[in-house]
Amino acid sequence: MNNLTATQDFQIPKKMKAWVLGDPDEVILTEKPVPEPGRAEVLVRIDAIAVCATDLEIISHGLPAIINGGEPFNKNFTPGHEYMGTVVKLGPNVDEFKPGDRVTVEIHAGCGRCLRCREGMYTSCLNYGHPEKGHRANGFTTDGGFTHYAVNNINTLVHVPDKMSDEEATLVVTAGTAMYGLDVMGGLVAGEGVVVTGPGPIGLMGVAVAKAMGAQPVILTGTRDSRLEMGKKLGADDVVNIRNENAVEAVKYITGGRGVHYVLECSGAPDAINEAAQMVNRGGRICMAAFPKDPVPVDLAHLVRNNIYLFGIRGEGKSGTHRAAAFMEQGRFDASMIHTHTFPFEKVPTALKYARERIEDAIKVVVKMDH
Ligand SMILES: [Zn+2]
Ligand SMILES: [Zn+2]
Repeated sequence: MNNLTATQDFQIPKKMKAWVLGDPDEVILTEKPVPEPGRAEVLVRIDAIAVCATDLEIISHGLPAIINGGEPFNKNFTPGHEYMGTVVKLGPNVDEFKPGDRVTVEIHAGCGRCLRCREGMYTSCLNYGHPEKGHRANGFTTDGGFTHYAVNNINTLVHVPDKMSDEEATLVVTAGTAMYGLDVMGGLVAGEGVVVTGPGPIGLMGVAVAKAMGAQPVILTGTRDSRLEMGKKLGADDVVNIRNENAVEAVKYITGGRGVHYVLECSGAPDAINEAAQMVNRGGRICMAAFPKDPVPVDLAHLVRNNIYLFGIRGEGKSGTHRAAAFMEQGRFDASMIHTHTFPFEKVPTALKYARERIEDAIKVVVKMDH
């Protein structure tokens, strides 16, 4: 019944255009069959997709899951994971969604059968990279969104309210990742100081979410004044340009010498962890949402002596996207502020270039489909 409705409402072609990995730093436009949704899945017509820094790394170095296996590139693979669209077809027995629903997607569909998935930590699924066990990670282990259609598990879908634009909906997963970081640190940030280090998209959303959750003060550190200004608009009480000021001293000064309870590290700077450890008070909590490429020395004695908790997050776990989407629907912050550029589907290489080179101060570059 549902499938009949779906095919009646939407003309679904057999083939679709898709961007795929070519040589390093190259994507090629090709054609692929439109995938079929299976059990607990729907077919999503992609309406908009944002470029993420991780996409640029995958396009440059190949898939993370492949790197250890030898072959550095996986040609014919479609990258892209920050997409939203319209449900156009339902898998067998799916009644949680209907054709025509606007949805944005989480990246990770856990297998649902391992211990971590059962704990809600599906972004750390123990069957990561095993689609035959039900695991999917859009644009990482299974085909992503720089194409016209994608299959998604229903547990990765978040309803998009009518008033939210396609472009803004692509940012839900970014805000959801920041939300997950605050969640794993304990989540009770109301009235507590939060430092966000690094004003990239996740850091800026970290500021917005922390403020929406009642944190006080929210302090953002970074190197570029334009990004710090945006952080202020998204809710930062104080910003620190670390080119002009010592970040640790500034945080101590702002907090009357006490330091903060939480640091959300989004810069990936080599010394960020040691600085974060000096910004938090005794018993404070640090969540690493970014990391430097190479191993770095860490002052462990300081962490242990001060009972400092250290967390790392992968992606948008524990349904953080649903809570972030709720904040966005309620207008608690304007995520669309970080969306700076839009390109059509044919211009994906240009969109990637704008994101990579931060042309015109690009933050979030969105590719909008024209159906
Ligand atoms: Zn991303
Ligand atoms: Zn699992």
